Amino acid sequence: GTAQIGVSGLAVMGRNLARNFARHGYTVALHNRSAERTHELVDQFGDEGTFVPAESAEQFVAALERPRRLVVMVKAGGPTDAVIDQFAPLLESGDMIIDGGNAHFADTRRREAALREKGIHFVGTGISGGEEGALNGPSIMPGGSPESYQALGPLLEDISAKAADGSPCCAHVGADGAGHFVKMVHNGIEYADMQLIAEAYDLLRHAAGLEPAAIADTFRRWNTGRLDSYLVEITAEVLAHTDAATGRPFVDVVADEAEQKGTGRWTVQIALELGVPVSGIAEAVFARSVSGHTDLRAVGGRLSGPGRAALGADEAAAFVDKIEHALYASKVVSYTQGFHQVQAAGAEYGWTLDLGAVAGIWRGGCIIRAAFLDRITAAYAKDPQLPSLLADDGFAAEIAEAQDAWRDVVATAVRLGVPVPGFSTALAYYDALRAERLPAALTQGQRDFFGAHTYRRVDRDGVFHTLWSEDRTEEQQ
Ligand code: NDP
Repeated sequence: GTAQIGVSGLAVMGRNLARNFARHGYTVALHNRSAERTHELVDQFGDEGTFVPAESAEQFVAALERPRRLVVMVKAGGPTDAVIDQFAPLLESGDMIIDGGNAHFADTRRREAALREKGIHFVGTGISGGEEGALNGPSIMPGGSPESYQALGPLLEDISAKAADGSPCCAHVGADGAGHFVKMVHNGIEYADMQLIAEAYDLLRHAAGLEPAAIADTFRRWNTGRLDSYLVEITAEVLAHTDAATGRPFVDVVADEAEQKGTGRWTVQIALELGVPVSGIAEAVFARSVSGHTDLRAVGGRLSGPGRAALGADEAAAFVDKIEHALYASKVVSYTQGFHQVQAAGAEYGWTLDLGAVAGIWRGGCIIRAAFLDRITAAYAKDPQLPSLLADDGFAAEIAEAQDAWRDVVATAVRLGVPVPGFSTALAYYDALRAERLPAALTQGQRDFFGAHTYRRVDRDGVFHTLWSEDRTEEQQ
């Protein structure tokens, strides 16, 4: 074979990845279950590079130089297994199957283990950036073995997005499912970022009393500072847009029921299993869920509360700046929680992770790309063992500076009756970490009372139980 890389599954994502490889000078073998897509690609884009179309799995495998690199870009779940089962018997030791679909990392771990027995490298790879990213440079999060990355990394780095400093938004994340895991957490953080921006918008509108066009200007201004990011940039675009049919702000004619495809939910489910508090991501998932419950929201008309009277003009101007502080501080907390989840998964699944490099991958190509990610890379470069991003002096100092404003924003939102689950859960997490004593001591007492679940003491080692229903003496277990 002559092709350096092959792509099987030529719907939007696979087609654009194949074109991206070809535009970078690679010879690309093409395959799809139904051959029409393969021919369509060659007909429409054949002049962009060198393609080797294959009608069958056998032809496709034969078209590839060894060790073979097969990118599978099909529907996640059953279809991915079907395609793997089709190719695996045709491959030889050292060949690589790269799954670029949105697989659940547990499936990736299972597939990697099964293929490893046959000497085949299975490289579960998170790819972010949608169609446009696939064509012009996505953010790429490959898992799998370090050996496979040696053979594959240079190609993936070539076609990936590039950060502002020119470095590729692609790096080997860790063994087996690490790539897909990190992609999942990326999506969870994306949910949290979007929720925080939504709360900032809600407060700019209903507390500061600004109209969408003015709010768009506010986000544009914020986008020149520490909040500089793709999501803040598109927020301004969406808010500035006017509906052609009605002449009203676009944001006012869109039904306020947010949908989800499920990766945010996965992130929270896995966090619960790992015992990692990702409250920012969880609140974001739940906020979308609440918005979609029209049945519950119909009850709201009968519930009393403040009427969201905007602040006075003099207070409102200062409040806008305070919202920026609240948004930034809450964002730092969300990322802190997301990175904690990645770190905990590394310990659980035996991945050697470079968390600074993970932040680096996200600097371009993906939805959460932001200037701010450089700061995270720098924090982990300074101390790779950082137990939490909040332990970094730089972030701690910024939050120290932001926190009076942050507290005022949450308090004002509560007073006005504007829901800010993201801002307030982030602040609660921050204050929980700061607390010298948590009421968890009382929780432990209750658990011991009703279930003899035992407790530890602050002053002595050991495990204890109080005989609550007898004479309340304490026993050491
Ligand atoms: P789809 O998820 O719509 O999948 C369509 C492709 O899967 C077609 O090539 C189809 O072949 C193939 N396929 C479906 N079932 C089977 C099967 N049983 N056996 C063989 N082939 C099958 O394509 P997309 O391009 O939208 O997405 C591809 C992957 O990338 C998905 O896992 C998706 O989740 C992920 N994705 C990632 C995005 C990102 O930003 N990272 C964005 C969008 C998607 P046929 O033409 O013969 O029907």
